[in-house]
Amino acid sequence: MAKTKSVFFCSNCGNESPKWIGKCPSCGEWNTYTEEIISTKQNTKSVLVKSDSLPEPISDDFDSTETRLFLSDTELNRVLGGGIVCGSVVLLGGEPGIGKSTLLLQNMLHSAYKCLYVSGEESKTQVNMRAKRIGIRNQECYMLHETRIEKVIATAKEINPEMIVIDSIQTIESELIESAPGTVSQVKECTALLIRYAKQTDIPVFIVGHINKDGMLAGPKVLEHMADVVLQFEGEKNYQYRTLRTLKNRFGSTNEIGLYEMAVDGLKAVTNPSDILISDSTDNLSGVAISACMEGNTPILIEIQALVSPAVYGTPQRNSTGFDTKRLNMLLAVLEKRSGFLFTGKDVFVNIAGGFRPNDPGLDLAVAAALISSYQDIPISKTTAFSGEIGLSGEVRPAFRIEQRIIEAEKLGLNRILISEFAKLQDKNGFNIKIETLEKTDDLIEMLF
Ligand SMILES: [Zn+2]
Repeated sequence: MAKTKSVFFCSNCGNESPKWIGKCPSCGEWNTYTEEIISTKQNTKSVLVKSDSLPEPISDDFDSTETRLFLSDTELNRVLGGGIVCGSVVLLGGEPGIGKSTLLLQNMLHSAYKCLYVSGEESKTQVNMRAKRIGIRNQECYMLHETRIEKVIATAKEINPEMIVIDSIQTIESELIESAPGTVSQVKECTALLIRYAKQTDIPVFIVGHINKDGMLAGPKVLEHMADVVLQFEGEKNYQYRTLRTLKNRFGSTNEIGLYEMAVDGLKAVTNPSDILISDSTDNLSGVAISACMEGNTPILIEIQALVSPAVYGTPQRNSTGFDTKRLNMLLAVLEKRSGFLFTGKDVFVNIAGGFRPNDPGLDLAVAAALISSYQDIPISKTTAFSGEIGLSGEVRPAFRIEQRIIEAEKLGLNRILISEFAKLQDKNGFNIKIETLEKTDDLIEMLF
């Protein structure tokens, strides 16, 4: 006999409380507690059962390499650390409409394995239309339109796939729990069942999870703790480029990223990102600087555009796409205080080409250069690259992996790179590109103009 009880969960972090509270003691958010009814199996008598697996002594004699399945998508394989590990649960997060379903569906369609694609989100017709756009027919890729987790697992046991996709966890529900799909207890329970299934059968499972407006996986943080690998798919919806990032990986590094271009027939891997991120125009315009930045382990040259103009309205605007606005404000304050540029009364816009959002402090120097160039209305040569972090006192700090950045700039045919004075370079003369070093933001102005 099952009995029900009512529990309150924080919709932000998944913290549990027997009564409603205004402020979550775990994550500090206000008004996030919602009531959920959960039924628990009555266990008045606890039964002692033996575990299915037998305890074994720990020994050196084992095979340390996990069995992995390789997908046709080289970017996804690399981000996963060399294919998907059998029995692992991979969570793919991202904003709605960014292309998570397309990414997984095209991988299932291209794969040589028997796959089960569970869609709770879209109708059969919608998934079929998407598959038609991708343009691949795969008889070994099965589609299931189902939202009850128990049925999903029962079907999986029946058809025995080699890989499963759940799209999305927020639409799947368990019969054991009375609350609506997408609530903390449902998401937790369904994920737990999927993890148990994956571990028992050694079948890898991809779970799609939506991200809410704060960039958190909608629903509990718990989901991130439970999955073996957490990937995030991001990009600006209006641009065609997407980045696949690893936030957590129990079987590999979190430094790898994958780059994709959204095409009519699905997502295409971008093999030479620097080429597309720098505009072809040969005109030298003010406010443009090229940054040699790192996206995970990949060096990329990115074009930074800045516009500084007199404010039209009372309050000057500070707007940036692809670059952190707080960081931009900090750079403006540093340039104002240390180098005497007055940004008060001026609108400032910063834009990173292609809708990319690189996460690299080494971008600072290029952003500062673009800002100064627009302020002075003097263009910077497009054959110059920048790489360095800027500190609060205006000092230019070395960017990590500077050699890789220099090599990338050299490869793309640039002839000059400005880096920090303190960067540790093995052999400065070993490059064809001219390397110039600077200590403070003041030096930047002297070197550029
Ligand atoms: Zn909380």
